[in-house]
Amino acid sequence: MVTAVVGANWGDEGKGKITDMLAEQADIVIRFQGGANAGHTIKNSYGKFALHTLPSGVFHQDVMNIIGNGVALSVDRVAEELREITSRGVPAPQLMISDRAQLVMSYHVLFDALEEARLAGKSFGSTKSGIAPFYSDKFAKIGIQVSELRDMDALREKVEGILVGKNVLLTHLYGQPELRADDIMAELERYREALAPYVGDTASYIGKALKEGKTALLEGQLGTMKDPDHGIYPMVTSSSTLAGYGAIGAGVPPYEIRRIVAVTKAYSSAVGAGEFVSEIFGDEAEELRRRGGDGGEYGATTGRPRRVGFYDAVASRYGCRLQGATEAALTVLDVLGYLDEIPVCVGYEIDGTVTDEFPATTELRRAKPVWEVLPGWKTDIRGIRRYEDLPENCRKYVEFIEGKIDCPVSMVSNGPGREDIIYR
Ligand code: GDP
Repeated sequence: MVTAVVGANWGDEGKGKITDMLAEQADIVIRFQGGANAGHTIKNSYGKFALHTLPSGVFHQDVMNIIGNGVALSVDRVAEELREITSRGVPAPQLMISDRAQLVMSYHVLFDALEEARLAGKSFGSTKSGIAPFYSDKFAKIGIQVSELRDMDALREKVEGILVGKNVLLTHLYGQPELRADDIMAELERYREALAPYVGDTASYIGKALKEGKTALLEGQLGTMKDPDHGIYPMVTSSSTLAGYGAIGAGVPPYEIRRIVAVTKAYSSAVGAGEFVSEIFGDEAEELRRRGGDGGEYGATTGRPRRVGFYDAVASRYGCRLQGATEAALTVLDVLGYLDEIPVCVGYEIDGTVTDEFPATTELRRAKPVWEVLPGWKTDIRGIRRYEDLPENCRKYVEFIEGKIDCPVSMVSNGPGREDIIYR
């Protein structure tokens, strides 16, 4: 049986903590998409960690952690994270990397930065981890699969071919020096050595384990709004953020993904540009940003202030539906304890008509939020462990959201710690 933990919103919903909790009960934890461009924050008995490429099961010694074929693999980042966790007392984890995963090359990172600079004000707000150039190459069929490291002679020929196109762009579009095949081969040699202990046929491993009745956890990155097909294109990421993509990015049969937990935050936040109908501004936003998350809504790597807003039930219902959510985890509810009244976006007004369907980007740009205002609970709910012990208005808020998103809220998170969770 496979469970997926995925985001229903723009990312940063608090998936890290839910994943870490569920990882404890799983035999296998799998990353199936994305790369080092996003990550989770996990607080546990070893300390506070930001994981970008390693699966969240790395804190549990019995868990096999898998980096699936769908991931944009930054080898140096994996090595760095392994060093980071082991240097802080976490025992070396079990880790397996798909031989069908592809490599994020130094030139992907370079092209990402050059293109962002060229686009200047019109950029996509990339984290410059090389993700968009990586996936472009993958689908243009000039990516490098881990398995190709087994034949370095054939790989050299391929690299020379790839560099013809790259060097035309570098010299003519970006005014940069050319790349040399020798340097790229040295980089690949380094990756070959670093990966050797971990490479394997992960899909076959997972398939066998599932047949034996083992359980696997698919760990999503970002959220529905960042999906290239169903999100706010073009302000999206470059690989699918949906649970369904787990079947492809990990190589598991689609029918095995039976439990899908969509993580949704009790208010909204988004990083970078893109449509965000329930966004708020000014002092009201500043206060929510300062009180938000665990130490404020500021980018984990960049420190950039995140855009914030109240809960968007239209986007979240769509987000849960596209994920195929069988349940939702409502997170960061504790943060709202300071508000007298809590607005929830329950509809979009587009050209004078109100809808509760989440439209494509062109219409979304014209959408204005329709609010329904709920009473606040004005207390600190951290430390509460039973649903019945939450203040009545707080329970009403949870149940209101549950009704609006059409998905049972099975967990309520009321603090960043692992124990700050209420099961319903
Ligand atoms: P992800 O991108 O969805 O994995 O988001 P993160 O796991 O990085 O979570 C964002 C931040 O919210 C982290 O700093 C978490 O520690 C924090 N967080 C998670 N759940 C809660 C919660 O219920 N309450 C509070 N106050 N913070 C939380």
